[in-house]
Order: sequence, then structure tokens, then C-alpha cells
Amino acid sequence: MDQNSSPNQPNRTEILAVTVMAQNVVASSPKRDDKFWFDDGTIVLVVQDTEFRIYRGLLEDQFPIFKNLFSLPQPVTHHRDEHRDYSCPVVCLHDAARDWRNLLRLYMPEGDTRLFMQAPLCPSFETISACIRLGHKYDMAHIEKEALDYLKVLFPSALSHPTIPWPPNGFHLSSAIGVVNLARLTGEHSLLPNSLYRCCQLDANITQGFIYSDGYRETLSSEDLGRCFVARSRLTQETYRLYTRSFLAASDTSRRRKEPCRSNNTCWEAVAAKKFFTVANGTADSLEHPLPFVHLEDHLPDDVRDTTFCDTCWKMFRECEEEEHRALWQRLPSFFGLDLLG
Ligand SMILES: [Zn+2]
Repeated sequence: MDQNSSPNQPNRTEILAVTVMAQNVVASSPKRDDKFWFDDGTIVLVVQDTEFRIYRGLLEDQFPIFKNLFSLPQPVTHHRDEHRDYSCPVVCLHDAARDWRNLLRLYMPEGDTRLFMQAPLCPSFETISACIRLGHKYDMAHIEKEALDYLKVLFPSALSHPTIPWPPNGFHLSSAIGVVNLARLTGEHSLLPNSLYRCCQLDANITQGFIYSDGYRETLSSEDLGRCFVARSRLTQETYRLYTRSFLAASDTSRRRKEPCRSNNTCWEAVAAKKFFTVANGTADSLEHPLPFVHLEDHLPDDVRDTTFCDTCWKMFRECEEEEHRALWQRLPSFFGLDLLG
């Protein structure tokens, strides 16, 4: 700690207006956080209606910006509440209390945290969001990057088969909305095609957004919402067209087969084709959301699957679908008005 900066003086309360975010207003009577209030703490953070009393050295170690702040002459010094005496600096931050609580959990874990036998880490969306928002705002590049890297695993820019289960533990379907907004905030546009695609699979939530644990609602911007509506229509068309193109490719007699048809080459005859398109049409019509990157076979009950193609023809059809999936994935950014993936 820099002993020359902002010396602690008994009975002195200091409030530093560090940043300004219009939507946050400090409550007149903030309450102490249940977890992050230590009586011997050396700094109080007032965030929305919550007070966190923690240790200044820890804060400065992780957030160099605070060290810099305290090294400057303090421009604003006054008593916020004559009935409260903290005997330590009080810093007013215009952030979400939820974000600070989530971040402090990382640096000051619960007392029963296992030290050597860690369970697989599955951070919640709120934790990831807090790391990115606060890391971005307070120049904590390492934690911002680590959280963004985690999102890149969940929202890869390359098409992956099998696809990563969505949503993972700690996330909700509508968390994709928050991921889009984080990508916009940080300029990490490689996250956009995949996260916007996930938004296209939402129902009413796509307009209503999602609600954080503290009741705060976050929505897509009107521009991104419009992009999703346009793309959703196109992706629904593509879902059916992809079945058609895959059928045509698989039924091409000049296409090299790894294994022969087990139904005496009847899988691609006219009667069979009629059945296929009836099945494909019915599947596309019954989808609630556009799912162009899921194999048709995976939508079908076993009896329908088994009476449509033989096993080796289904295998060849899947190969053709995957070729189409890769081609469509390359075009996905353009559906949202984005540049192609770099
Ligand atoms: Zn066959």
C-alpha cells in the first residue's frame, strides 16, 4: 500500500466519484453486504444500495487503477452520513452491486471452499459478465481476457460437431443476449455470430431480455433485435433447404460411397424420395426454432428413421449434411450483417 496516499484519518469519511454510469444512483441509506463486510476492513465500496468493507491492499493489488486514484490528491471529501463513521476511505462506484459481489467471491472465496480437490469450474453467466464488465472498465485485462476466453469456448467461431451443450451449467438460454452485449462492449466480435444465432432460438425472451438475480433486466439493442428477426426467418428457410441439398448430394450416383446401400439401392428411388421429403417437410414445419446445424436424423423417432433410409445411406446423408453445415456456417455472419469470420 502506498503510505503517502490518502492517509487513513480517524473519523474521516472520503467519497471518491470514480466513474459515472447514468443508470446507477447511490442509495441514501445503503446496507452492508451480508458476506463482504469485514469490521477491520480498510476501505468501503458503496455500490448502488450496498456497502462492501474489504481490504484496500487486496483491492489495489487486483485493481491498479485504485492505487493510482489514491496516489492523487483527493478532490472530494465530505461526510456522507453523519451517523456513520467508517474511519477509512469510502469509495463510491457507479456499477452494479451484483457485479462487485460476484467479483469479490472470486478473490475472497467462501470459507468452506475446497482448496485441493476443486470441482470442475463452471462459472455462472453473472460471474463471467461481472469479470468482463469490471475488468473492462477498471483495466483488469487479465480477468477480462480470461472471462472472454471462457465465452469463446462456449461460443466458438468455428462450427463444432458435436456442438457444445447449450446452455451450460450457470447459464440460461437467454444468457445469449448478455453475451451479445458483452461482445459489443468489448469489441470481441468473434462471439457475435454464434451468440446472435442462440438468440434466434429464443421465444418471447428475445424481446423481453433476461433478468439478473438482482432484478435488473438486460435486453438486446434494437439494432441487434432487428438483425435476429431477419436472420431467424432466413435460418428457418435454410433448415429445410439444407435437407433438400443434402438429399440431392447424397442421391448423386456419381458420388463415391464408402459402403453400399443395404436396401438394394432403393433408398434413393422415387417412392423413397417422396417419403423422405414428406418426413423432412414435417420435421421443418414442427421446429419451434431454426435448427439448421442439427442432423435431420436426430429429430426423427426410430421407426421413421429406420423406414426412411438404410444405415449406410443415413451415414452418407449425414456426411452431406455436414458439408452443408460448414458452408452455411461460413455464411452465418452475413445473416446478421456482420463481416465474415476472420
Ligand atoms: Zn440405402
